[in-house]
Amino acid sequence: MTVVTRFAPSPSGNLHVGGARTALYCWAFARGRDGRLVLRIEDTDRKRSSDAASLGFMTDLDWLGIDWDEGPVQGERGGGSHGPYFQSERLPIYTEHLERLVAEGKAYHAFDTPEELDAKRKAARQAKEAYRYDRAALELSAEEVEARLAAGEPSVIRFRTPDAAITIVDEVLGEATLPAGEVDDFVIRKADGYPTYHFAVVIDDAMMEVSHVLRAQEHFNNTAKHMVLQDALGLPRPVYGHLSLIFNPDGSKMSKRDKDKVLRAAVKERSIEDAPNDSNGEPLVAADVWSTWRGDKSVQLDLDTLEQVAAALDVSLPEINVADFRRSGYLPEVLCNFLALNGWSAGDDLEKFDNAFLAERFDLDRVQKTPAKFDRDKLLAFNLDAIQGMSPETFHGLARAHAAEFRPEFIERLDESQFRTLCDASLERSKTLDEPFSVNRFLVAADDEIDWVVTKPVRKAMFKGEPTGLELLAKVRPVLEGLSGFDAASIETAITGFVEEHAEGNLGRIAQPLRVAVSGGPISPPIFDTLAILGQRAVLARIDRCLEVLSESSPAG
Ligand code: GLU
Repeated sequence: MTVVTRFAPSPSGNLHVGGARTALYCWAFARGRDGRLVLRIEDTDRKRSSDAASLGFMTDLDWLGIDWDEGPVQGERGGGSHGPYFQSERLPIYTEHLERLVAEGKAYHAFDTPEELDAKRKAARQAKEAYRYDRAALELSAEEVEARLAAGEPSVIRFRTPDAAITIVDEVLGEATLPAGEVDDFVIRKADGYPTYHFAVVIDDAMMEVSHVLRAQEHFNNTAKHMVLQDALGLPRPVYGHLSLIFNPDGSKMSKRDKDKVLRAAVKERSIEDAPNDSNGEPLVAADVWSTWRGDKSVQLDLDTLEQVAAALDVSLPEINVADFRRSGYLPEVLCNFLALNGWSAGDDLEKFDNAFLAERFDLDRVQKTPAKFDRDKLLAFNLDAIQGMSPETFHGLARAHAAEFRPEFIERLDESQFRTLCDASLERSKTLDEPFSVNRFLVAADDEIDWVVTKPVRKAMFKGEPTGLELLAKVRPVLEGLSGFDAASIETAITGFVEEHAEGNLGRIAQPLRVAVSGGPISPPIFDTLAILGQRAVLARIDRCLEVLSESSPAG
């Protein structure tokens, strides 16, 4: 038997790390068994699905190195003989099977209005009973059904669930039996003509010859519905394995809500009353929405708005989706390695491995039943280790690609050799591909954007000693101005000479004032590199402004 797994995202929103882990396990299970991975886009919920989201999912999978054998075509990937792979393009297939079930009396049309159903649900609630559809539609005669359909009355198709217990067999979670009557006559085709998830998934898994369904635990109970449908349709049953959720260390669900929480906390802490403005001077969030969101933890801003506000306030949000981790400069192989460990173990305390190893070793026996806790510090440590293990060339190439996508201002502002200097200077301490840029934004700021807040280290660098840092800075300026080449080596030679003459050979006496002058603060890459990256013109301009601004400020305190 050929192993066929599938990853079947609903294209709304973004690929969450939990979804990415499911995809990775499906991929590894198939790859390690000479099988196939099918990518199927479950877009029957037309209101919530979008092409942009489908494309986003594919881009994220691509980036992670999760290649699908069959599915939507993207670049080299996709195609296959079991398509189409978008459920919205498979309606004729579903209709054929739906009609067959109705003809065989295994499913039926129902005309109950949403109001009628709501009333029945409410009555069940009041009677403290579980709601189940009461099969009212089965009272209708065949003629009446025909007439109402012909009249175009809105209707759904419901599956006539057999009155028997259902035992779900799951390779990860074990068995569970649902008593007879637990699953009611559920809807298999909606009023808009689209099949429900349950129906489409059963048809597609069979037609795409899926042998193993690995999916999120939230679908465990749905499996009962899928099983009764498979029996009614005479379709084979795949092997099921349901995967536990990934949680935050505090036991809460990892979700977009976490981003709202972090931003809300920052807004409160800084006592920000009004929403920041966009580039046209308009508030990013309407005043009433903003104030509700500020005060009510259950309210969320939409993701785009949230990210714009966070960017405007310089708040970094926790990564939740694959795209977030990418933007933060995590390496795809590290994220895969880490996700693999969140819910599966390789045994022998082995923690570091690549996707090829995972494919070779992945099995369902070692998939954990209990939720995994997502340890961000550990992920960051993994990423740091991977970066430290890179050659400068590799790091440079990856950092450049990262900057081209997420930090274009660095590509625009720095020439090849300055960019290279920044990478070389950052390699040793960067935990992510983004760090060379995120911590060194002063490099691409306009010269007049640098400001000098006189914190303790700034005061020490500029106003202490004899002569003071500020005085040394004024003295070193003509030396830097006189240089004809402004590479790190020339700067080093010049400054070393200067230090011998004016600072008893103590480089720190001038390095720190220079650092403060060009960056605004006491932290930067090694000073000669920093100056070379900035270039002579910017260095001199920043020194001039710094001398001017700080000479007026009080050194006291
Ligand atoms: N489309 C479903 C989801 O995104 C997945 C269903 C399945 O794997 O069966 O949750």
